[in-house]
Amino acid sequence: MNPLLQDFNTAPFSKINIEDYKPAIKKAIEITKEEIESIVSNSKDASFQNTTEALDFTGQKLGRITSIFFNLNSAETSKEIQEIAKEISPWLSAFKNDMILNARLFQRVKTVYDKKNTLELNPEQTMLLEKQYKGFARNGANLNSSDKEILREIDTELSKLSLDFGEHVLADGNAFELHITNEDDLSGLPDGVREAAQLLAKQKAKEGWIFTLDYPSYIPFVTYADNRDLRKKMAIASGKKGFQNNENNNEQVVLDIVNLRHKRANLLGYPTHAHFVLEERMAETPENVFSFSNDLLEKAKPAAKREFENLQNFAKKLDGIDRLQKWDSAYYSEKLKKKLFNLDQELLKPYFQLENVIDGAFMVANKLYDLTFKEVFDIEKYHEDVKTYLVTNANGEEVALYYSDFHPREGKRNGAWMTSYKSQQVFNGYNDRPHISIVCNFTKPTDSKPSLLTFNEVTTLFHEFGHALHGMLANTVYNSLSGTSVSWDFVELPSQVLENWCYEKEALELFARHYETNELIPMEYVEKIKESASFHEGMQTLRQLSFGLLDMAWHSGDSPETIKSVKEFETEAFSETLLFPDVAENCMSTAFSHIFQGGYSAGYYSYKWAEVLDADAFEYFQEEGIFNKEVATKFKEHVLSKGGTEKPMTLYKRFRGKEPKPDALLKRAGLL
Ligand SMILES: [Zn+2]
Repeated sequence: MNPLLQDFNTAPFSKINIEDYKPAIKKAIEITKEEIESIVSNSKDASFQNTTEALDFTGQKLGRITSIFFNLNSAETSKEIQEIAKEISPWLSAFKNDMILNARLFQRVKTVYDKKNTLELNPEQTMLLEKQYKGFARNGANLNSSDKEILREIDTELSKLSLDFGEHVLADGNAFELHITNEDDLSGLPDGVREAAQLLAKQKAKEGWIFTLDYPSYIPFVTYADNRDLRKKMAIASGKKGFQNNENNNEQVVLDIVNLRHKRANLLGYPTHAHFVLEERMAETPENVFSFSNDLLEKAKPAAKREFENLQNFAKKLDGIDRLQKWDSAYYSEKLKKKLFNLDQELLKPYFQLENVIDGAFMVANKLYDLTFKEVFDIEKYHEDVKTYLVTNANGEEVALYYSDFHPREGKRNGAWMTSYKSQQVFNGYNDRPHISIVCNFTKPTDSKPSLLTFNEVTTLFHEFGHALHGMLANTVYNSLSGTSVSWDFVELPSQVLENWCYEKEALELFARHYETNELIPMEYVEKIKESASFHEGMQTLRQLSFGLLDMAWHSGDSPETIKSVKEFETEAFSETLLFPDVAENCMSTAFSHIFQGGYSAGYYSYKWAEVLDADAFEYFQEEGIFNKEVATKFKEHVLSKGGTEKPMTLYKRFRGKEPKPDALLKRAGLL
């Protein structure tokens, strides 16, 4: 018997054999198809209950099995699991495609959608109906058959182009290496960086040291290397990926992608690709993104210019640099930062023992939302490092199960993330509580030392825990609208806002104690952390805005076919945000993978947008007290528990009493 096809509540890790996944997923796809078929072949007229709601409840089994599978593929993978992933991913996309193209199913969805004004639906039901209908419409379900054919061709062509784009960037990146044989050229580089470069040379059977354009090699080099010519060499090599006279040139690829996206948007009835994307975001329209960006730009620019001049003067004094170039930025910034703050991370670590930080996050959640975390030992785990908790509310009722997995090991991917094994929903009148997990890569304890976190790791833990709270406190009817199922530019609010507690005395007093002496962290350290966190914030803001504006320029114009030169177009888009002299042989767009390879097109602004939201939300807490119950309850009731059941701006305003403003962010960043 396949354990994945039996009924289970918590994931039955110990019973699953690797051979169980494929047959279970195959079977679960069949079951879902049957569920959909029974909706389609219903002889009764399409109604909200027998179609919209019924469709949302299909695929439960498939969802449970694939979440276990893909979560393990990230946290505890193996060659076998990766092989299976390669095999089943096409099954899943074919299944999704079939569903989107199922004309009889769409007909029923549309029938309900067309009579939505007569149905007296509540906001959550309305949202479900809209989201479902758009899921079909935005993929061409309303088009006639020849336009459908055109759309398929565009989609095929676009996915090929974005693959080409990525391969070109990679190939140009891999083709370059900086081979150093004279040790003097390493001046300024920390030992660890030298060792890594030496190892790389050895692997390539070469003498000396090798640096590449991969970030772990590139970033330390341009940050620390004293040799300005070599920094320049590296920076220019990195800046011309996809922009050289070779087979990896991406200029035409960029133009083709931009034109096809525009054509696709027009075909679906949108003026531009940006309109198409933003329809489903909190920002809603390109006009809103532009006014948001330009407003922030206007306010950050004077500070950015000031910082730039300071940096220029610092470089001039130190090394007689007359004109600061791109390859000087990281180098002199690091030196200036060190001079101003001299903050040693090692000094802070003893105050952040992992267990204490975990307890700290639990105490913060308790003070804000009355949650209690109790470790439990009767739930199956996929690895012995995993801890499991029962989360209850003030009445002792179960809110969620919570898994945490904090240390690196072979088979776990890098970084930190939140995920779920079961999402929350109300099914047959029963509020089914979620199973939430966070996964990080913090240093393991040794026999002599516990796991001590850097401050950056502390904020990472709070960040992921913030996502986890969004998942755990979910309280919606439909699972497709539950928890973190919200628009892209809203999903980072709960996570980023919680990071703010890490800088507050009142919160640190709960947990930031020396692991040997139990002494509370000295507040001057915390002040230093705060100050250094906003170092060069003006320049950073300008940089982020410049990328966002470039992204918007590519995707919001109504005649992309008239663009002839990628470089000229980009230079024009950068004109308001330029600090460093332009480098003629470099181009950002031809290697801007976020927007031409990944899914961030017309979405790069989200990074700053989310910061504005979190600063504005936290300001409310600061005004009333960071543990103020009333504010916390509002945040829980109107944001954390509501998922995507209403428009994000509506939810936010209900919490905050007004629309978000950038002032709090500007204040926090020291730009006001
Ligand atoms: Zn996040």
